[in-house]
Amino acid sequence: MPPANAAPVAPPPPAQPVAPKPVVPAVPAGPQKTLTLKAVTSVKELAELLGVKPNLLIAELMKMNILASINERLDIKIAQQVAEKHGFLVEREKKPEHTAVPMHKQELKEDADKPEDLQPRPPIVTVLGHVDHGKTSLLDRIRKTNVTKGESGGITQHIGASTVQMKSGQAITFLDTPGHAAFTAMRARGANLTDIAVIVVAADDGIMPQTLEAIKHAQAAKVPMIIAINKIDLPAANPEQVKQQLAANGLTPEDWGGETICCAVSAVTGEGVEHMLEMILLQAEIMELRANPKRRAKGVVIEAQLEQGMGPTANVLVLAGTLKLGDAVLVGAHWGRIRALINDRGERVKEAGPSTPVKCLGLSGVPEAGGEFVVCQDDKFARDRAAENAIRVKGEQMNAPKKVSLESLYEALQEQIRLELKIILKADVQGSVEAVLHGLEGIKSEKVVLNVILSGAGNITANDVLLAKASSAIILQFRVGREANVAQMAKHEGVEIRQYDIIYALIDDVRDSMAGLLPPDLVEHVLGHAEVLKVFSLSKGTVAGCIMKDGHAYSRSKLRVLRAKATVHDGTLFSLRRFENDVSEVKDSQECGIRVENFTAFQEGDILEFYEIEKKTPHL
Ligand code: GDP
Repeated sequence: MPPANAAPVAPPPPAQPVAPKPVVPAVPAGPQKTLTLKAVTSVKELAELLGVKPNLLIAELMKMNILASINERLDIKIAQQVAEKHGFLVEREKKPEHTAVPMHKQELKEDADKPEDLQPRPPIVTVLGHVDHGKTSLLDRIRKTNVTKGESGGITQHIGASTVQMKSGQAITFLDTPGHAAFTAMRARGANLTDIAVIVVAADDGIMPQTLEAIKHAQAAKVPMIIAINKIDLPAANPEQVKQQLAANGLTPEDWGGETICCAVSAVTGEGVEHMLEMILLQAEIMELRANPKRRAKGVVIEAQLEQGMGPTANVLVLAGTLKLGDAVLVGAHWGRIRALINDRGERVKEAGPSTPVKCLGLSGVPEAGGEFVVCQDDKFARDRAAENAIRVKGEQMNAPKKVSLESLYEALQEQIRLELKIILKADVQGSVEAVLHGLEGIKSEKVVLNVILSGAGNITANDVLLAKASSAIILQFRVGREANVAQMAKHEGVEIRQYDIIYALIDDVRDSMAGLLPPDLVEHVLGHAEVLKVFSLSKGTVAGCIMKDGHAYSRSKLRVLRAKATVHDGTLFSLRRFENDVSEVKDSQECGIRVENFTAFQEGDILEFYEIEKKTPHL
């Protein structure tokens, strides 16, 4: 835990206020410092980079349920998350061994793009915004209106992203999963796919906490935004008020003299949607998004899965080059020769160019979402690199800090409530102290911890008693005396002093004391069974006329009343009689009258099972 007077870990307040009531921004607005992170950063290194004390960072990680010691290596995703919380813009260090393809040995042959080969590519767009403001509806509307009919009827297949074709011939690729959680999750994996973020704001609701969060996420990713003021078909719609709120949050709309592009739309009627798409393309033009379709493809896995009849499939987004059938693809620890490519309309295609989402078949396993894929010069290269990556991934997993799971929390709790016997040992000479300690070490227990809080040669002093009192310990006195007043003081303080002359007696006693801390083990022994032959309702109560079928029963036995093997009562015998006389025991085959405490509902045929509970001294 950080000391009470520790410096606050929180980042400095944002330079510009973003909202009248700040909503604990995940990433502060305003100018941000950039931090370059290595794939593997230790807690200590990260603390230095962030300029915080390591112990404060450890405490912060604990709040994220991550137990990490100072020298523990942090997963890059976690390091990035923490750094972003501290207001840093994170860049990952580009180290050859941490890209999808290690550059040692034989190099991956990548040609530099010639300027004349660079072609405009469709922008990749993510839709963000507050819940229920219409992100999904808007995406649906865009797809419905703009999907060009293909052979399979133009039905959009879910492959993580889809491309809409405009009448002008231009195209826009939309990532399927709206919301900043997915957006940032991809980013956390190092996949900054999005070129443009569309922030959806409902015109009847205005800017909400998640809208602000979405804006922060887009700003943190340095992704230009287009604001879609949605639901303008509603009578309560007030687009001007949304613009006002935007301006108040540092995003002055274009028509108010600022730079923020705002589009009034309705996902329901389709009004304004076409215009918004044009604005996206305009923004893309300004950004001069280009890629070389002639080179070997590379891109990112949006999602991957094992599909029946298809094997491992990866829905990828090609970022550069053209992915073709038969290409040797490497993605993390997996590789494969592309057997089939399926586009976002479920059609088999031969190739997929820049900004195109496509499902690929033929990989050796299911790659991680967010992973980078790259087409290699040949199968062997891809296969060898995949094998190397597999080994590296394994190594990194082994070094990953332990995450606190429910299970480990439970273990920690068990640890806390683990029973402990604390002792103070005083003996005549140091040799005796060693001998006793050695003997105590021989007591093995998983359930009780023996904690020698103090040991030494010499008489028992008042200080020993005080220490024992303060730490709830007992004092073991081995062949030594006590200083004056010790006995009286111990009695007064309630401290137990045990005296021994022989080592094994001391060891046995300590062992017994440790076992004594444990709850006794309860063992049940069945004594016998009786069958109810007849039920008598007497003035004194209900008596079951029984016959002992096996074993025996004695007065005050515990018993269960069993009916059709189910227990209908579990209690204690009240009286046991034979021929009008109370008896202490009945044996096999004897008839008897039985009354049971708090139970009268006997039925003929009930079985009474008598048992006793033995309390056994538990094993350490
Ligand atoms: P999401 O949570 O942001 O994905 O929001 P949804 O797309 O699920 O939409 C939430 C609700 O708003 C749904 O009931 C939609 O039908 C409704 N909705 C979305 N867009 C519009 C719109 O332009 N006009 C109207 N009237 N309702 C809309």
